[in-house]
Parts: sequence; C-alpha cells; structure tokens
Amino acid sequence: MRHKFWVLLRLATSDNQQMFIDFHTHRDRQSPDLINVQTLDVKANLQELPNICSLGLHPWFVQPDSWHQSWETLERLANSPQVIAIGECGLDRGIDLPMEVQITIFGKHIELAESLQKPLVIHCVRAFSELISLKKRSKSTIPWVIHGFNKKLEVFYQLLDQDFYFSFGEAILSDHGPMVEAIATIPEGRFLLETDDHPDLKIEQIYERAASLRQVPVAILQTQLVKTYEQLTRLF
Ligand SMILES: [Zn+2]
Repeated sequence: MRHKFWVLLRLATSDNQQMFIDFHTHRDRQSPDLINVQTLDVKANLQELPNICSLGLHPWFVQPDSWHQSWETLERLANSPQVIAIGECGLDRGIDLPMEVQITIFGKHIELAESLQKPLVIHCVRAFSELISLKKRSKSTIPWVIHGFNKKLEVFYQLLDQDFYFSFGEAILSDHGPMVEAIATIPEGRFLLETDDHPDLKIEQIYERAASLRQVPVAILQTQLVKTYEQLTRLF
C-alpha cells in the first residue's frame, strides 16, 4: 500500500512538470494540476490525513496544559507517507506563550523532522536570531523552510546565507517592497510558493507574479518548482 502511494506520488510530480504547488495552505483544494500541501495544526484527536500534508503544533494554538497529548498524536502520524513536511511550527514574539516553552516545543519538531528526514515548515515572528542560533546548534541536515516570509532584505540575505529555504506568498503581490526584490533575486532551488490562509488567493496568481518578477514564463517556473519540491521532500 505504502509502495503504491509513493509510485502514484512520483507519477504525479515527475511525469507532469506543469503542476502548480501550493506549499503551505490551510485549505483542502483539489485540482488535477495542483499539489496542495495542506498544513494541519495537530489536535490530540486527529485521525484522517489529507493526501499530501504538513503536520505541526502552531505556536498560536499551543495550550500549555494539553500540548503533550497533541504532540503524541503528531509523533504517531508524522511517519505516514502523506506527511511530506513537519510544521508549521516555530517561534513568535507577538504571543503570550513564553519563549522558552516555544523553544522547547519547536526543538521537538526539529528532532522529529530530523529523525524522519522531512523538511521543517517554519512560522517565525520577530525571533530570527533565536531561529538562526537554533539551526546552528542543532547541526540539522534537513531543509528549514520559512513560510510567509515578509521582512527586511537584510534579514532575508542573512537567512539565505544560513541555508534557509523560503515559501513566498501574498507579500510578493505588492507593487514594491523587500519581498518583490527577494523573489526576483533568490536563486532557483531555494524557494517555493504558497497561499497560506488567504481564502481568496489562488496559487496561480502567486505563480504569475513570481514568474513575471523573475522574468521567466510560468511553465518554466512550474518545472523549476516541481524540481525544488522533489528535492526538498526527498522524493528522488
Ligand atoms: Zn499558515
């Protein structure tokens, strides 16, 4: 069964290079030309998984007294073949949950992702220096993908330098700003695209904007991102 699933997934990704990939979305959108990586914030009673998903404990929804039960469920499900990444998880300085608790929980995600050799999908708000030092300290070998990145270019280049990957979304639609320059210049192989939790946003719009800023046709961008996706998720 597991083998068959992988064969189907490979066919879906490698034989059709003209797929769109929504690398981080909270929606369950089905379309024959779309790889929809649905991210789920794990609760203790989660059982059914979508075909392709990413699982984590989002720092916004961590309950100090019950996150251990959710964590057990996450650990139990994370090895399923449908789970192509761990997250979203991470650090957020804008919430009440103490930073040391956030670091403990994020540290568990790092260990889990490392043991399964699956990429990490990261939510980070005003805690980039902690993020960089955790990456250095963990000597991690898996890809760390920062989703929805929208910060100063200085931080972007610093993270690029530290081998982070990026998933860009709504921020590249603005007329100008740091993310417009970031998407135009980031090397191929270091980024993917996403819609996150914006109900009216279509991944096709994000692809069109990224292709135009990178001055490549959408079809070429699709081929490049299928390759990046396969590399990041180690399908090949
Ligand atoms: Zn999200």
